[in-house]
Amino acid sequence: MKELVARIKEDGRVLGDGVLKVDSFVTHQVDPVLMEAIGKRFAQVFQAANITKVVTIEASGIAPALYTAQELGVPLVFARKSKSLTMNEELLTAQVYSFTKQVTSTVSISKKFLTENDNVLLIDDFLANGQAAKGLIELCQQAGAHVEGIGIVIEKSFQDGRELLEDMGIKVVSLARIASLKAGEVEFIEEDA
Ligand code: 5GP
Repeated sequence: MKELVARIKEDGRVLGDGVLKVDSFVTHQVDPVLMEAIGKRFAQVFQAANITKVVTIEASGIAPALYTAQELGVPLVFARKSKSLTMNEELLTAQVYSFTKQVTSTVSISKKFLTENDNVLLIDDFLANGQAAKGLIELCQQAGAHVEGIGIVIEKSFQDGRELLEDMGIKVVSLARIASLKAGEVEFIEEDA
């Protein structure tokens, strides 16, 4: 997606350990115009798939997922990382190891929001080793829901996430694919996904 790639080139910052900082438009401050365009693109790809729910994980997945859900005309459900006092119903839970925070956390979705009748589109901001996505897939499996595919805003293709997901039979659609973050430079695989 051209405008996303251009924005990463303009405002993305490479941190030493294979991490791309995009806090001025995705992960802290959010650009709603870009997020809406991203949501429209994901919705376009999955338009004919009869998606019933868009599922993401808090926090940075919520913005692109919300626009995708709006465009598809379905609800957005985001997995929560900490249990709220108001979550007193039965929960689906999975363990997720965070690539950036280097801690394992329990993510959960209330059983009432994901069922065997759902055809799910997963959305996340980054794909690195695929652990966040794997956790979301586990939640869907527990609910008996079908996972139609996953939309990723920024894929770091030098990590194992895409392979892990494709080996599970999941369709992966990434809007920017990064080949390398070496020497402080962002190198892309292809400019138009
Ligand atoms: P994975 O679970 O695929 O290893 O990592 C994906 C999650 O880690 C994303 O939800 C994202 O929050 C975070 N993440 C992974 N790599 C990066 C990165 O290079 N930059 C930022 N800002 N977040 C990342």
